[in-house]
Formats: sequence, structure tokens, C-alpha cells
Amino acid sequence: MTQTTSLTAQSEALFARARRVTPGGVNSPVRAFKSVGGTPRFIREAHGAYLTDADGTRYIDYIGSWGPMILGHDHPAVREAVSDALQLGTSFGAPGEREVELAELVTRLTGAGKVRFTSSGTEATMSALRLARGFTGRKLIVKFRGNYHGHADGLLVEAGSGLMTNLDGALGTSAPSSAGVPEEYAALTLVSEYNDPAALDTLMAERGAEVAAVIFEPVVGNAGVLVPTPEFLAALHRVQDAGALLVADEVMTGFRLSINGATGLLGLRPDLTCWGKIIGGGLPVGAYGGRADVMDFVSPQGPVYQAGTLSGNPLAMAAGLATLRTLEADPGIYARLDAYTSRLADGLKALAQEAGVPVSVNQIGSMLTPFFQDAPHGSLRSYADAARSDTRAFGTWFQGLLARGVYWAPSQFESIFVSASHTDTELAATLEAVRAAFTDLNA
Ligand code: PLP
Repeated sequence: MTQTTSLTAQSEALFARARRVTPGGVNSPVRAFKSVGGTPRFIREAHGAYLTDADGTRYIDYIGSWGPMILGHDHPAVREAVSDALQLGTSFGAPGEREVELAELVTRLTGAGKVRFTSSGTEATMSALRLARGFTGRKLIVKFRGNYHGHADGLLVEAGSGLMTNLDGALGTSAPSSAGVPEEYAALTLVSEYNDPAALDTLMAERGAEVAAVIFEPVVGNAGVLVPTPEFLAALHRVQDAGALLVADEVMTGFRLSINGATGLLGLRPDLTCWGKIIGGGLPVGAYGGRADVMDFVSPQGPVYQAGTLSGNPLAMAAGLATLRTLEADPGIYARLDAYTSRLADGLKALAQEAGVPVSVNQIGSMLTPFFQDAPHGSLRSYADAARSDTRAFGTWFQGLLARGVYWAPSQFESIFVSASHTDTELAATLEAVRAAFTDLNA
């Protein structure tokens, strides 16, 4: 399992070529390894719990394409479903049966009245908020610091994920979080603190009558894992009393924390929910749905326009259907994912302590982040808490894991994602690498 970082000639060559023709050499920023340094691995293939890069090096994968691959890569049920669909054509631009089947399955599993498919999570959140504005006739959106909802202009305000670290790994603090977002757009997005019920109550008391929607990550993955308190969840539901729509962004947590998502696990009652990642089983799919009276405002039924050339694509629907059906057919799958991730969390805690490295682990189900800072495990609750982490120590630790064949998320402010393909073998190898990577920090 032990490999050295010198075995990256092909990735380096590809990265050099890529930088000449693509900004930063990647098609999504976090892939460039800016906050951890080193050469991003160009991936050739992926099977089960493993990635193989262009140099032929195998890694135990803890990213799972940033969430979709909950069954592991190249799962036979998904491969067969996509391959069957492929024989019948790749895109129709007209409705087909698979879209109906997936919509029926998603509404049954989530309790949503109606659902509309898009091609990404960003399109789902962007469309859900347009719908909320169209339905309520109000303009303002409330989001939480460090929550990421994709890259639509109005949502790139105090956003988490890749926006939390800039080139040298320091924290980004500006609002809007991106150049190119007019301040006038950003002004329509109000920002509150995650897990701070009093701050949300105060904001809603002052501006509630103007608020179309409050959008939130039910469990945050994009500032590293942050778990909500019951008091915060209660405050979220109070926004509905002010006539604002509660929009759960389950792009990351949907079908991951339970077959009914975080909504089922935490007993949420959102008006609208957004999905992505797992719902497409590794192909490009997003969706939004919820109350039928609200969804009926979407075109062509209602006045809120939203469309997509490839929405409901037959290959993507096939992958989503196969993934959700496989998850639903295996009642023990979430308990197994949780057991693996809990053992990984326990190992991280013990090995960090053994090495004298301050680490605070947050874990729920198959999502986990080790924050490199001195705080009790499970105690970090907010963006400000996460931001206190030592990103340089994390970067060194990340490189230590990568050199030993473990592909962790290349940022302190991300969750890892465990898949059903991870077994005792991968756990043992991972913990061996974790032990050595902690030791590197003391070298
Ligand atoms: N919402 C959340 C919670 C996410 O984690 C992401 C992506 O990571 C998005 C929205 C955007 O989804 P996509 O990258 O498919 O546009």
C-alpha cells in the first residue's frame, strides 16, 4: 500500500497540459489541490472503494466523487442500468418513462408532493429559490455562513467549501464570495449564523415579511461536517410562521444520511428540498421538489420558468434509479455505512491522541471531518468554530495519507464520504496510513 509521491509523472504531465487549456487545469476548483499543495492526481478509473490514477497508483477513495458514489464506483447494478439505457439512445429532448419512475420513487422516499429534475445541484437550488420568490412574491433569501448551495450568483455569499480557503490556505471572508457577483445581487441574500437560533429569530423579526426563503444544509458538509442542534432546527421551522419557505438543501445529505435523507433522520418539515449527487448515481442529476401547491408554480403549469436541454436524461435517470433501488433494497446498508465511519472516527481520535496532534472529529452517518484543532470531539458547531482549524497541519496530514494510498478530501473544510464498498480491509489500511500521517506531523 505504501507509495511515494514521486510516482506522479503522468499526473504532472496531464496537469501541465490541462493548465494550458483550462483555467487552473481543472473543471472544479477544489480538484486543483490549492489548499493542500502537491500535484492533483488525474484519475484513470474507479472500481469499488478504489481510484487508480494516470500513473497506475491505487488509492482508497474517501471522496466518492464528492458524495454520489454511495454504493462504491462501478457498481454492477448501476453499470448494467446505464448500459441497458445506452442501447436505446442517449437523449430524447422529450419525456420518457424513466423520469416518471424516478420522480415516483423520489416522492415516495422523501414525502415531496412533486419533483422536477435538473442536471446539477446548483440548478436545483437556484431554481428552488426562483420558485420561492415567485410563489411568495418576496425578494430576500436567508442563508447561513459557511453553507454552500452551488455557484449561482445570489448564493455565492459567505459560501463554504472551496470558497473557505484561498490560495495560501487562509480563510476567505469577503461577501460576495466571488468576483463577478454584483453587490446588488448579494444584497438580496441575508446571512445568518448556523446553529444560532437567536440570530435567526432576530433576523426574521426584523426582515421576515420580506423573506421568500431560508435555505440551509440540514447537516453541513461544506464547512467540514457540522451537525445541527435541536434548538436551531426549531428556529428554522419558525421561519414558516413568517410566510417564508423553508428550503432544505439535501444535495449532499439526501439518500446519504438515511434513505429519507437528513429530513427523515432529523424530522424536518421543509416546504421545498433540493437534491443532487446520489440521486444521479454518478451521472449529472439534480432535483427540487416539495409541496405540490408550490411546485405547481413551475412552468409549464405555473409562471416560474425553469428548463433544461438534458434534464431527465435517460442515462442519468437509469443511474439514479439503480442507485436508489439498490439502497432501498438493502435495509442494513445505512447501519453498515455508519458502523464503518464510526470505527474510522474512533481510530482517528485514538491515533491523534497517541501522536499528540490536536484533532476534533465531527461525524454523522457516513460523513466525517477531522478538524485540526484542540476541541472536544463533536463540539464544533459553526463556521467560526471550523475556521479555527490549522489548515497547514491538515495539508501535511493529507499529503501523508495520499503518499500512503489514501485519497482524503483535499481541504480541511470538506466532509469525506464512505461508501458501501469500504470493508474491514480498507479500514485497516486506512488506519495504518492515518497513524503514519500523524507521525509525519511530529517529524
Ligand atoms: N448544495 C450542496 C449542499 C452541495 O454540497 C453542492 C455541491 O457540492 C451543491 C449544492 C451544488 O451541487 P453541484 O455541484 O451538483 O452543482
